Amino acid sequence: MTSRASEIMEKTHLEDPLADSNKARESVDGIKDGAEARGFSFQVLKEGESKGIRARLGILRTRHGIVETPCFVPVATLASVRSLDYSDLASLGIQSVLANTYHLHLRPGDELIRKLGGLHKFMAFDGPIFTDSGGFQAFSLGFGREHNVSKIGGVFPDPDKGSSVKAHPLRRDNLTKITEEGVYFKSLQDGEWHFLNPETSMRIQSNLGSDAIMAFDECTSPLSDYDYTKEAMERTHRWAQQSLKFHDPKQAIYGIIQGGWFEDLRAESTEFTSSQPFDGIAIGGSLGENKQDMHKILDWVIPKLDSRPRHLLGIGDADDLFEGVERGIDTFDCVSPTRIARRGSLYITPLAGGCQKNKFRIDVKALRFKEDPRPIDPYCSCPTCQRYSRAYLWHLYHAKELSYFRLASIHNLHFMLRLMESIRESIAQGTFRELKEQWLGKALPGERSKEVSREKLGCDESIYDESGCNESGSNGDRVCGDDLDA
Ligand SMILES: [Zn+2]
Repeated sequence: MTSRASEIMEKTHLEDPLADSNKARESVDGIKDGAEARGFSFQVLKEGESKGIRARLGILRTRHGIVETPCFVPVATLASVRSLDYSDLASLGIQSVLANTYHLHLRPGDELIRKLGGLHKFMAFDGPIFTDSGGFQAFSLGFGREHNVSKIGGVFPDPDKGSSVKAHPLRRDNLTKITEEGVYFKSLQDGEWHFLNPETSMRIQSNLGSDAIMAFDECTSPLSDYDYTKEAMERTHRWAQQSLKFHDPKQAIYGIIQGGWFEDLRAESTEFTSSQPFDGIAIGGSLGENKQDMHKILDWVIPKLDSRPRHLLGIGDADDLFEGVERGIDTFDCVSPTRIARRGSLYITPLAGGCQKNKFRIDVKALRFKEDPRPIDPYCSCPTCQRYSRAYLWHLYHAKELSYFRLASIHNLHFMLRLMESIRESIAQGTFRELKEQWLGKALPGERSKEVSREKLGCDESIYDESGCNESGSNGDRVCGDDLDA
């Protein structure tokens, strides 16, 4: 972190640790104890540089250290950020990870992890760990598979052409059964049925020993109609209260706002979730047909929230970070950086030709990079870019060398973490709007970035991947698809 942001943070480290979030939580129903046991608090250091920008700089304190926010939280589904080890996480400066309750319950089993000393010890990561509740799998293994859609539509449609969410023709079996009591899941590993409800989800997350847990919820599909979305939201509210009843008081707990892309349901869910004594608030569920819908949903929800920390579940492309932070999101998690890295998509900054049109990515497996001696991004300081060329990564990818996964994942995570670092710095300096314009501004996508990189790199258009990310499979744009591929 650079000087201005760290100055602000250092000054406030000495302040009362019972920060804004606990005061907000206590004001909900007068709860006065528990904050110390959880060791959890959130302090907003700076908020809202100008009209319409609600970006905030903060510190999340947990029993396993602090998280400077806004923060991108990499996903460690099976207690591992895929292809990386503890030393990679440390050298990348990863502050926190998010692991998956459902998958760790199935393998190796949460009881085993508890016996072995908990998740931090098991995966040798001593920073703050979030766990989700398993509620997302109610969607991803259920309607997500059946409709073959992600949280945001089936694919991101081109907003200029206009479109509506449609079920993908390649539907698969729905592997869940949702009842008032909980969710039955059919395991992809052994075909056995497993059951999760608020009580079991809380017990599993307690066994894992994560710092911040999620209430058990039902994430709905963008194809769910109003009536079903309302029914699922009301069920989620009942499960939220049960989650509060059964959760381990040593763990901080986030409630999850549902309601799909229906404004009145989002308003109702925001009001309900905020009225409960959660430590933090997460925004989940279907986020509409495209990214514009997602922004609209955030605009409906966030202005109604108090100072408790806000987490946006399962979202995290470069432009999402800007749009989410601008609206007041504090933490994000997403499998995208490591998942797309494994499929050949590597991030590049605007200086290297990255723009919204190419999603700030090159497709390193494309033939044009076979003899390219340049690093992925000449402006990147990650270990991969310091030593290796695009040609070498092209070769590793096509030769199916295992080292490709590690080198590519390191670069993509480094990109996301450094981007978030510069976002924090810009909030501290009051220049968030300028930074956002440099990355997403009207003039930048396409034209200006080409000029910059032509001038600075002397490169031709082969640096750009105008066709966008050419991921394998029919759902290249999915943010959160089959979570076993996380
Ligand atoms: Zn790099």
